[in-house]
Amino acid sequence: MSTENLKHILVVEDEEHLRTGIKYNLEAEGYDVSAVGDAPAALKLVDETARPVDLIILDLMLPGMSGYTFCETIREQGHDMPVMILSARTLAEDRIRGFDVGADQYLQKPFDLDELLSRVRNLLARSRRFTPASLRQGEFDVYQFGKAHVNFTTFEVSVDGKPVRLTAMDMKLLRYFIEHEGKVLSRAALLTGVWDQPADLTTRTVDNFVMRLRKTFEPDPAEPRHFLSVRGAGYRFVAAGDAAETPDEAAPEA
Ligand code: CA
Repeated sequence: MSTENLKHILVVEDEEHLRTGIKYNLEAEGYDVSAVGDAPAALKLVDETARPVDLIILDLMLPGMSGYTFCETIREQGHDMPVMILSARTLAEDRIRGFDVGADQYLQKPFDLDELLSRVRNLLARSRRFTPASLRQGEFDVYQFGKAHVNFTTFEVSVDGKPVRLTAMDMKLLRYFIEHEGKVLSRAALLTGVWDQPADLTTRTVDNFVMRLRKTFEPDPAEPRHFLSVRGAGYRFVAAGDAAETPDEAAPEA
């Protein structure tokens, strides 16, 4: 069988039995798999344009160059394939550091094989990373805008690398904004879309929650760049609201 149309997965893992086991199971699912034991070998494979890598499964603790440095390096080189970190490290700081260097998912060792395969399918199904157009209910875990990093699976949120706490309702509202990125949402639409019992609430509730999101995410809550007020209409979320961070998308609105 030709490997031409198969998705190419790169496994970077120094523990040989694990590397072999993951490779074997991915191949059994019909993927084309390269497996290497260190980051320099992985960097070479990522640069091979004849056989592009569609997804990377990455151990953090590797001899020589760490998984963090590897991930940071490929992102700096402009590679945007999804990266799933596989690690025995359990601290939230480790996960956040992984997301900060550009990883998409973090799976803790020991892991469940079915979960690994399900996450692989999910990551490969996404055509592009973090693009609002590709966001649909339940299809993404991690979202970035400005200096914020949000994981909707673990509820871990960081701004400028520092962890922040959001309530479940804050997360629900944030998710709704992200799913409707760029669109003007009336307070009534937000109440209906986000709150389960909107009849008990007033539009003032929406204002209070939006104020909280601004305090959490906006560099200057008085001059919001992401959670914008639209006079007489409601609110509008804009992901690329920070001109300094995203020069390519900083064209001012007409
Ligand atoms: Ca290791």
